[in-house]
Order: sequence, then C-alpha cells, then structure tokens
Amino acid sequence: MGQPYNPNAPVQPVTPPPMPQSMKCNSCGGPLKPGQGLALVVCEYCGAVTTMGAGGAAQVFQKHFMLDNKLSNESALDAGGKWLNKGIFRRKVAETSNLGQVTLRYVPYWIVPTSVVADFQGTKNVGAGAGVGMMAHGDTGAKKAAGAALFALTMAAAAAGSRNQPQHNVQSQPQVVRVRDRIQMQYNIPIVGVRGYTKYQPDDGFQFQLQNKITFDKRATGGVEVMSGDVAEQEAKGQATSLAHKFAEKEAKKRVDNLESIQVYPTTYDGELLHAPVWFMEYDHKGKQMFILLDGSSGSVMDGERPAFSLW
Ligand SMILES: [Zn+2]
Repeated sequence: MGQPYNPNAPVQPVTPPPMPQSMKCNSCGGPLKPGQGLALVVCEYCGAVTTMGAGGAAQVFQKHFMLDNKLSNESALDAGGKWLNKGIFRRKVAETSNLGQVTLRYVPYWIVPTSVVADFQGTKNVGAGAGVGMMAHGDTGAKKAAGAALFALTMAAAAAGSRNQPQHNVQSQPQVVRVRDRIQMQYNIPIVGVRGYTKYQPDDGFQFQLQNKITFDKRATGGVEVMSGDVAEQEAKGQATSLAHKFAEKEAKKRVDNLESIQVYPTTYDGELLHAPVWFMEYDHKGKQMFILLDGSSGSVMDGERPAFSLW
C-alpha cells in the first residue's frame, strides 16, 4: 500500500475539483444542494445520486441500490438489548442502561468488492502440554484460564488413561509446530460515504445481505431521511484496502498462536452505492456513553460498544 517515503519527492499541488456549471439533477432537473461537496449528492426530489466523475464532471451514478428497513422501533430496541446482554458475563446490561437517542436513517455506503490473498507464517502450540506452555509464557488472564482448563482436562484424561494402562507414561511437553500458509478471501466491504460518521463504519467484517438489495427508489424509504455523502468511491477503495489488511491479519491469527509475518495483497474493484437503513442507538451504562449500530434490513448488529462484563 502506498509508496516508500521519499523526502525528495516533489510536492503535488492540491487543487479542489472545479464546481460544475449546472447544479441541476441530471435525472429530474431539480436543483441540487451539494452542501458537503459533490462526492455523493442525493437529489431531494427524485433520489438520484450525483457523483463527481473521474473527469471532474458531475454525473448520475447508476449503480445505486437500497435495502428495505424491516424493523419497527420496538424490534430494533429488542435486537439491541439482546446484543447488550449476550454472553455469560454480561447479564442485565440492557436493564441497567439508559437509552438515549434512537435514529433511523438511510446512510450511503460504498460497497467495495475486495479480494485478499495473504501469505503468513508463525507457530502453533499443539500437544498435551500446550495449555501449560501458554501459562508459562505469561499470557492474558483469559488465555491463562483457558490454558488452565485445558490443563485440567489433560490431567483428567491422563488419570482416566492411567486406570486402563497403569504403566503408560504421560507426556506433557508442549510442541511447537511451524505454520506457513496462504489465505484467500472475498469481501464486499461497506465503507460509509459520510465523512465524520466514523461510528457508522463497521470494522469487524460485517457485510450487508446484498442479495436482498433493490434499485434505489425514494418512494420506498417511507419518508426516512436519506443522507448525502462526501466520500468519493476512490477514497472508499483506499479504506477498503486497509480494512482488508486487518481482516487478513485477524484470519491468520485464528490459525496460529504466534503470527511472525504476513504479506497481504488486496485488490479492490469498482463497486456500487448502497443506501442502507441504519439504526443508531445511544445508551448510557453506569455513566459511560456507548452506542449500537443495527442493520434495519437483516436486524443484525453491525458494530457497537458494550461493557466487557457486568454481572449486576
Ligand atoms: Zn432528481
């Protein structure tokens, strides 16, 4: 990604793209109000999206889709509450939180088809003593607990085994296996088209269910606010590239205990623009402000914040 730092590289003058002569929607002729620039302007009359083309000319962007909102206010709150309470250490978070503002908006996302190839190497702990090995290396509390549990199981198995074969010698030496492998994955990475809407950007691998998309139709939004944006597709591709690095690294870490090196080769392709119905819920838990982001089409949580644990 990018070029190596070169202190002698000539400085490129940055000039803003020229504003178009006509500020009318090419689809219906209505006046456009490009409040935040022309990267992505939704016509308030017909819903057509005008983008700044490669040549600097404003044009109607054709690959413009939407997903239907299928959640009522009540079912959205219900889905958010269930997510808050998910996990044994997180009982009654929803019950002990104060709900703040809840908003539903059609938010523009650039859907960037991205293929990732990543070559990685590292080591993996295997064998009966793996749990002990993890403990000895001073890992996190959770890993220690997992290691201890594994160790207990190993001892139980050893005890069971020794009843059947009294003279069997139990080995508990940790073994380290070297792993060299390649990951190949495809994503349709959603990149939020509104600068400053960082909380609307899922960064943990969430993908919209694009098989349910329909061609954008303003009448199908039911009067819910449809947002314009200020992120061009080219910039979205750059963001998708960095997310692809992150996803590949995460995937590699699932396959080794110690990731030594990884080379990621992402390729992004021209995508489409999707207006997705997104529920944004703010809540307060013990004085801390947090949020939940919910896909109104599938009802699943796209991203959010919740306490690590809370038993009461
Ligand atoms: Zn229009």
